[in-house]
Amino acid sequence: MSAAAAARQILTRLTEVMASRLHAQGKLDQVVEIIGECLSSEVCSIYLLREGMLELFATRGLNQSAVHVTRMAIGEGLTGAIAQKVETLNLAEAKAHPDFQYRPETGEEKFHSFAGVPIVYRERAVGVLCVQHVEQRRYEEVEIEALQTTAMVLSELIANAELVDEEEARGLTQEQTGPQTLAGLTLVKGLGAGAAVYHQPRVEITQVMAEDIEAERQRVYRAFDKMREQIDSLASQAEFGVGGEHEEVLETYKMFAYDEGWSRRINEAIDSGLTAEAAIERVQQHTRMRMREIDDPLLADRMHDLEDLANRLLRIVAGQIGTAASQGLRKDTILIARNLGPAELLEYDKRRLKGVILEEGSLTAHVVIVARAMNVPVIGRVKGVRTTIREGDEILLDATAGSAIVRPLPQVADAFHARFAKSREKQAAYASLRDVEPFTRCGTRIQVMMNAGLRDDMSALAMTGADGVGLFRTEFQFLVSATLPQRERQTRLYRDVLDAAGDKPVIFRTVDIGGDKSVPYLASEIAAQDENPAMGWRALRLALEREGLMKVQARSLLEAAAGRSLYVMFPMVSEPWEFDAAKAVFDEQLAYLRAQKKLLPERIHFGAMLEVPALAEVLDMLLPKLSFLSIGTNDLTQFLFAADRANPKLAERYDWLSPSILRFLRRVMQSSIGSGVDIGVCGEMGGRRLEALALMGIGYRRLSITPAAVGPIKELVRKVDLAELSAAMTGWLADPQVSLRAALSAWADAREIEYD
Ligand code: PEP
Ligand code: MG
Repeated sequence: MSAAAAARQILTRLTEVMASRLHAQGKLDQVVEIIGECLSSEVCSIYLLREGMLELFATRGLNQSAVHVTRMAIGEGLTGAIAQKVETLNLAEAKAHPDFQYRPETGEEKFHSFAGVPIVYRERAVGVLCVQHVEQRRYEEVEIEALQTTAMVLSELIANAELVDEEEARGLTQEQTGPQTLAGLTLVKGLGAGAAVYHQPRVEITQVMAEDIEAERQRVYRAFDKMREQIDSLASQAEFGVGGEHEEVLETYKMFAYDEGWSRRINEAIDSGLTAEAAIERVQQHTRMRMREIDDPLLADRMHDLEDLANRLLRIVAGQIGTAASQGLRKDTILIARNLGPAELLEYDKRRLKGVILEEGSLTAHVVIVARAMNVPVIGRVKGVRTTIREGDEILLDATAGSAIVRPLPQVADAFHARFAKSREKQAAYASLRDVEPFTRCGTRIQVMMNAGLRDDMSALAMTGADGVGLFRTEFQFLVSATLPQRERQTRLYRDVLDAAGDKPVIFRTVDIGGDKSVPYLASEIAAQDENPAMGWRALRLALEREGLMKVQARSLLEAAAGRSLYVMFPMVSEPWEFDAAKAVFDEQLAYLRAQKKLLPERIHFGAMLEVPALAEVLDMLLPKLSFLSIGTNDLTQFLFAADRANPKLAERYDWLSPSILRFLRRVMQSSIGSGVDIGVCGEMGGRRLEALALMGIGYRRLSITPAAVGPIKELVRKVDLAELSAAMTGWLADPQVSLRAALSAWADAREIEYD
């Protein structure tokens, strides 16, 4: 008999038992007989969770008097270990395993081999199914698979017969459901509390046994086709993450998606009588077990990809395609994802989104910038997320410390909420600096402006007392809409923003899409062209070619600023002619509006962003054309170090306080002296206190930063003596360390200047 036929026979017999009128205990008694017989095992036993212990509920082969008597704690003995780790064991000699424990009442001393699988319900192990044999032998793969299938059937029985109290299952072991702390990298500081929600919701399998095998097979075929299609177009989806690893992961995805072995195993599982969902899950359980046995870190990484893909396949089969955003958040939420794109984050309800935990992520990825703008704390590069956090778990996120407490104890939660209240007080103290102008101790006025991108962000201007908006990222509206935003809509937004700003200046940056800011209506073009999107067809490069896009934006801005001052800034200028070309688009629109006798802006100030290092070499050619220059340190540093800003592996590798960056920035500052051009920094760097000190120390007097940093930076400015600081910087940069961080921290400590 083939393996599939044997498996089908087991499933058929199980189906009969399940459909019978027997009560739950009777069914369990039958199941152990069937499995024992089919696997020619002397012993087959089922342990289920009762009052926090694994209790022997049914057995064939062990002493019947042990039933409902033998009980093991989670983590105790082989059975306890299987439940605790939610993993399969397959041992030729049970006694040789370190977790083995002998229970005399069972009469198990004569048995040598042992195999056991967890019975999983709602992602928690609620029992164990195991077989034992007199002979020393490892069970064969098909036998283990039969056990896994049976465990799935049992979990359905358990759910229907309410054999396990769900509340009790929740109160399982420390590792499974006790408090856990996860560590990660701080991406957006802050505190947040809420229930865990996976961006890609998991599928719960409610039906294990198929009614129509052929229909299940067709469902899986269609799902595979769809998944392959998705994988082929994945490159343009931000959810997947864009970074140096991106290609590698995509290759792995493709390899798995087209892996004949994988689809064959799923098909075999369907042949044995499982539904498509159960078959995918069963195969996945099996692969997990195999991978664990191999214990190779590289393979573990690949396993992560396969888990992702299996989950994707399951969601397609089950027709649960949308993300958690499309289902809406029902309560305060900590969102969990492998990675997210800026547009995906913007789809979430800001009032309910209290924090984000990413398995990947890096400091200057656009999703992080958007989260910062939304004031949502984020940690990234967190390991062990999927094995620790379950949908709905309570999470306390301390993104400032880079940690998350999952399922906290009540006293821990109380302490956290008390700290949370304190931090809000501190924020309020910063808010009290709102009307205080940031003068240094030596009397120099520093311009502290804020970055924005959403209409809602503008309220922060009054709250923080920032000197204006030093960078308005106009692409945010392009990211949130499904089609290219129409002129009227753009004009309305820009006008609202200017109204909200009142007398304060707003520097509008023309669209910077492409790179990791992919938009659906241009995705295919961008993806088709770019192997390396950050250095590809993006920002001004794209806008100049898509002249329609640029024209519409120019007209919208000019109309919105009628009768007022307009500040326009072009991103990613690499050579001076690009600035000329972009300005020409505005001049042309201006001429048109003038001819139409429309009210024009009172004054227009044109500026450029310095993000591409090459531009620094030709500043003498560019500066005479500009009224201001703004340094985008996020992109600039990625190009200076040739380190993708979105690549999680490089997130911590290079320091903004490295001499190369600071010398570069100082040189730019020095070469602008006498040009009359106002120079500032609008990258994330300026919002961090030590970095801001360094920038002031090399001559920068204008910073545009995330709104939450305005208060802290104003406070910092007031404690600084520029002459003293710049002398220190000159010294350190003449004879530098790898990073100036240690020196600057000591300098700040000595002056009781707080830093991050
Ligand atoms: C930058 O690159 O530093 C910048 C401010 O622009 P963005 O982060 O939007 O690319
Ligand atoms: Mg940039």
